[in-house]
Amino acid sequence: MQQIFNEKQKKIAERMDADAVKKNWKDWHWQMKHLVRDIDTFQKVTGIDFSEKERRDLDETLNKFPLSVSPYYLSLIKTREYKNDPIFLQSFPSVQELFISDHDMADPLAEEKDSPAPGITHRYPDRVLFTISNVCAMYCRHCTRKRKVGDVDFIPNRGMIKAGVNYIRKNHQIRDVLLSGGDPLMLSDDYLDWILSEIRAIEHVEIIRIGTRVPVVLPYRITDNLVQIFKKYHPLWINTHFNHPREITASSRESLAKLADAGIPLGNQSVLLAGVNDCPRIIKKLVHQLVANRVRPYYLYQCDLSEGLNHFRTPVGKGIEIIESLIGHTSGLAVPTYVIDAPGGGGKIPIMPNYLISWSTNKVVLRNYEGVITTYKEPDSYEPVFCDRQCEKCDLHFDLEGASEENVTGISELLMDNQDKISLVPRSNERLARRENEKVLE
Ligand SMILES: *Cc1c(COP(=O)(O)O)cnc(C)c1O
Ligand code: SF4
Repeated sequence: MQQIFNEKQKKIAERMDADAVKKNWKDWHWQMKHLVRDIDTFQKVTGIDFSEKERRDLDETLNKFPLSVSPYYLSLIKTREYKNDPIFLQSFPSVQELFISDHDMADPLAEEKDSPAPGITHRYPDRVLFTISNVCAMYCRHCTRKRKVGDVDFIPNRGMIKAGVNYIRKNHQIRDVLLSGGDPLMLSDDYLDWILSEIRAIEHVEIIRIGTRVPVVLPYRITDNLVQIFKKYHPLWINTHFNHPREITASSRESLAKLADAGIPLGNQSVLLAGVNDCPRIIKKLVHQLVANRVRPYYLYQCDLSEGLNHFRTPVGKGIEIIESLIGHTSGLAVPTYVIDAPGGGGKIPIMPNYLISWSTNKVVLRNYEGVITTYKEPDSYEPVFCDRQCEKCDLHFDLEGASEENVTGISELLMDNQDKISLVPRSNERLARRENEKVLE
């Protein structure tokens, strides 16, 4: 068994709180009380020294995007070669954050515009994002909600939570509630218990999901008591956020095992970050370690267009190259979906290498991961079922009980048999505007 409290962690703990050392390191409240939030403390506990010039630049960065890192996460930094260290780069400010490019936005995903109730982002038909905490155990330097997370640490009060819950209750198409933040697991056990019970009491909510970085930055937060609470609200899914194999430690493994043993399906969302994990080999090792710990790689995100992230962005081609190196080369279970979260609030768009090379009326030409080009012969006699959405009269014996109610929209609607719609047209189409104007003149 790997030692969970190692020499380096002991040294860091001693520099912070000489009396407390061994007893408290694994107490998450102790970790939260000793979050490193300024450069002086950072220098003191890591032994890293910055020059005067570096200090001035860092202070300026901190004014805009504050620093906060748990002693645990900080203890993973290899201080001797810290400059390119993936843990350091994700947790410690860089003056490059001050560089704002023309395309950067404060809220690129339009989460605030798509918010019908406090904390709720309703973007997709059947599920909502519910922000229940603005607090994090660490402020990730690559955070897409960077502006907001650093702003004021505040926990929404019961009234605000209730308003969000009411919105969910009134909208029957919502079958999936995704708790997010900040980090939802920064709330107390009792408060989380209450929020989960409120959501679970809504009949049409089928699944609850929690997005948290706690297993990565503060694994001690996954206590037995917390896990007992979660178990009351199944089906409950958890998505965590590992970006680099170095983040998988004995403590983080232990926290994942606790969650998996409680029957919680685990997923992982990584962000592709220049200088941190923009390498097929690193990602492959990461996804292998994740599945070995019962975590299914879910998404690999292209870095968003939020302010202060310019230096972390890679070209999209890097992500495609990484996916190319995974599909076929390793277990399908270990391959995440690479997505771009569309600026302006369009949602996540999956990106893949191309496998379909060509096709005719009865054959498709494909290539595999080895570069072998192959064909698939399509059926000669496929009788499409004409669908008018009258499922009761359809030959496909479909039991409508509990079936999805929502209307078919988007490209799916164009594909429907019983719809007259033949095109989707942008609102500002000059040609159609002209038609309208001519009508007026007639
Ligand atoms: C990511 C996201 C979801 C969940 O999307 P899935 O693809 O179902 O995981 C829901 N709402 C918002 C606003 C999101 O950004
Ligand atoms: S844990 Fe998530 S929300 Fe919090 S700073 Fe990191 S990326 Fe942002």
